[in-house]
Amino acid sequence: MKRDYYEVLGVERSASPEEIKKAYRRLARQYHPDVNKAPDAEEKFKEITEAYEVLSDPEKRAAYDRFGHAGVGADAGTGAGGGFGGFGGFDAADFSGLEDLFDAFFGGGARSRRANAPRRGRDLTYTLTIDFEDAYFGKTVDLELPKEVACDACGGSGAKPGTSPKPCPTCGGRGYVEHAQHTPFGRFATRRTCPTCGGAGRVIAEACPVCGGRGRVHRTTTVNVRVPPGIDEGTELRLAGEGEPGTNGGPPGDLFITFRIKPHPRFRRDGVDLYIEHPITFVQAALGAEIEVPTMEGRAKLKIPAGTQSHTLFRLKGKGFPHVRGHGRGDQLIRVVVRIPTNLNEQQKKLLLEAFPDALDAHVQDGHGGSKDASGEHEGFFDKVKRAFRGE
Ligand SMILES: [Zn+2]
Ligand SMILES: [Zn+2]
Repeated sequence: MKRDYYEVLGVERSASPEEIKKAYRRLARQYHPDVNKAPDAEEKFKEITEAYEVLSDPEKRAAYDRFGHAGVGADAGTGAGGGFGGFGGFDAADFSGLEDLFDAFFGGGARSRRANAPRRGRDLTYTLTIDFEDAYFGKTVDLELPKEVACDACGGSGAKPGTSPKPCPTCGGRGYVEHAQHTPFGRFATRRTCPTCGGAGRVIAEACPVCGGRGRVHRTTTVNVRVPPGIDEGTELRLAGEGEPGTNGGPPGDLFITFRIKPHPRFRRDGVDLYIEHPITFVQAALGAEIEVPTMEGRAKLKIPAGTQSHTLFRLKGKGFPHVRGHGRGDQLIRVVVRIPTNLNEQQKKLLLEAFPDALDAHVQDGHGGSKDASGEHEGFFDKVKRAFRGE
């Protein structure tokens, strides 16, 4: 069944390591599945690679010369499903293409990989959109997250329940194969991913029917996310270990959540400060008043001094967002907008003109019209104005 390795590479039994290497390079270029799309190219490439694995290793070559295929643990045949080429075996994609292949020959000596070393799972990212209020007060969110988890049926091994993966016969479970190269500068050892097990170190005879041998399945899992109060747009939260599971016993990856915050109909945010526009009447602006303004935690009192101009900015200390890290909070800024009445009745118009005879002149626009000499006489007037505008 199995062809002689020397025959596969087309070299004499007495071929030098250099000749074996040359023959392999030539054939690998010709049959590598990335290059050669013929249906039997991959099979051929496997055969070539296997022959080279053995003949390029002085110890394996000696064993092969003495005992044949049995001497190198490769006598199971290629078609029987076990050993080389069996399920979970060689995968051209795992071989990382021609580049790796030629790296192994030219200057790639320093490159060594342990493909079956424990590997950390992939990180996951998720964008979570929350309400403005939730960003202020904080919240706990149950996040439905589709991710890969270990297959329950096979416990993550990928082997059919009741069976278990066997150590890979080619690499002895190490997941890589070593090549000694003799060069004028000395002996170099290079490592490559084991072509039999693709680096897993194990081969599976029968695949788990649930996961198809992958050892993991897609599942929607619930992740509990605690949104800290004060979180801002674009903040990234890292949940250690909530990513995908690791391989070969490696740790799981992390979950990174990026926050988006819905706008509020009234409040705007600037860092930890809140900002709001609030209307006041022109009487409140002129006479001063204590008004109530909305905050995120209910209403708060704000003192408007007499003679306040429209668009003046007031500050309520400590009514802003909390700092996510550290202590304290921002402020709430209130820009008061003076509402000028648009539908004065005749009595109101008359009162205003009596009180501010020069109000139609441009020069009083300096903001002192009438209040400059606010005497007892004017107090009486303002009482009248207040009455006139009650209900505004
Ligand atoms: Zn292996
Ligand atoms: Zn499974």
